[in-house]
Amino acid sequence: MNILITDTTIIPMTGDQRLWFSGDIGITDSQIAYVGTVPDSFHADTIIDGSNSIVLPGLINAHNHLSMTLLRSYADDMDIFSWLHDKIWPIENRMTAEHIYHGSLLGAAEQIKSGITAFADMYFHQKQTIRAVLDAGMRANIGATFMGDEQASLQRIGAYRDLFAEYDGSGDGRIAIDIAPHAIYTCGGRTLEIASDLAAELSCRLHIHLSESLQEQADCFAAHRMSPLAYLHSLDFFKVPTYAAHCVHLSREDLELCGQLDIHAVHNPTSNLKLGNGVAPITEMLKRGMHPALGTDGASSNNNLNIFEEMHLASLIHKGQTGDPTAVSAYQVLQMATTYGAQALGIDQRTGSLEPGKDADLIMIQTDVLHLQPMHDPISAVIYAAQASDVQTVICRGKILMHQRVLQTLDEQAVIAHAVEAAEALTS
Ligand SMILES: [Zn+2]
Repeated sequence: MNILITDTTIIPMTGDQRLWFSGDIGITDSQIAYVGTVPDSFHADTIIDGSNSIVLPGLINAHNHLSMTLLRSYADDMDIFSWLHDKIWPIENRMTAEHIYHGSLLGAAEQIKSGITAFADMYFHQKQTIRAVLDAGMRANIGATFMGDEQASLQRIGAYRDLFAEYDGSGDGRIAIDIAPHAIYTCGGRTLEIASDLAAELSCRLHIHLSESLQEQADCFAAHRMSPLAYLHSLDFFKVPTYAAHCVHLSREDLELCGQLDIHAVHNPTSNLKLGNGVAPITEMLKRGMHPALGTDGASSNNNLNIFEEMHLASLIHKGQTGDPTAVSAYQVLQMATTYGAQALGIDQRTGSLEPGKDADLIMIQTDVLHLQPMHDPISAVIYAAQASDVQTVICRGKILMHQRVLQTLDEQAVIAHAVEAAEALTS
């Protein structure tokens, strides 16, 4: 099906230079055919009026635990280890495949409504999350998750090889399978090595939580006399490109090591602030030429999957922390939520910018609303003034997932009802 978006404001995210222009976009089946000028010969099956809109690449949420939507507002105002040990892990042990499916569907719907077309996940019952992603029509890097000791990890290898064989590249390439050892404080050294070896064998990516809290850092120094990053490096962990959530407490030496290794930090500002873990050194990363991505983390430490809130916070907290109002510009934040996210997940050949030949993953933001007018600069408008609820249309791989804020692939009220039912069953 060919789609023509007419007379719109386009932010293509095609390079380091701030750029926007007016024009049309032509989509042929799953791919972008034209950006800017569409020839008269282009036959459109569907025409979308793009006036009073900004068109952006679909936003990328590079760190999530999708079905943790079921635990939204379940445990708040706690430190990270009490939160995990006393509240989260006991209830996670009771989650069934069906809980995970309905929590994932809720998360998928919520993400589409905030303009997210691709995300990275780390959780268990991966097949249920994949099922939800395929139903929703999104794109996802699904983390085959490791926790615990060597024995538990050895038992998972066979199932994860099968998961990779069956689902990597499924959904016309929308699903990628990555290996996701949870963190150094939940995985033994052998588990970290087993996970890294499996990622190397499958030639996929690694997804891990890294240097999230001061406690993690202190415990690692006590046990290994080195930082969490140096500890992983000492295990020869980084055999494949790795995206690492948080990276809040990185020393100068850690940052230098990151520059030598293929590590993509994922910035989760809300989660880091809410759990009292601090502020990641994003300004320093950008100065060093690193490309940090952006994520929401799970809905029980955020408590929503609204990437516009993350963009807004990422644009503000580093200015406040450094006292430098030029730190982390609006355009850099947009890069984190698009091109840098795509690079972290290894999907930048397909998505992350608006260019002919790339998959048609894009969103339309309505601009004729009070808080976006007058609009001198659309990039500034998206980061400093827009709300997730301004996203009107979401397209992923040429398929319309939301139009005029109505989900096209999911029944929103049914999704909510099933998730509430699953959460009640879980907590009763
Ligand atoms: Zn997380």
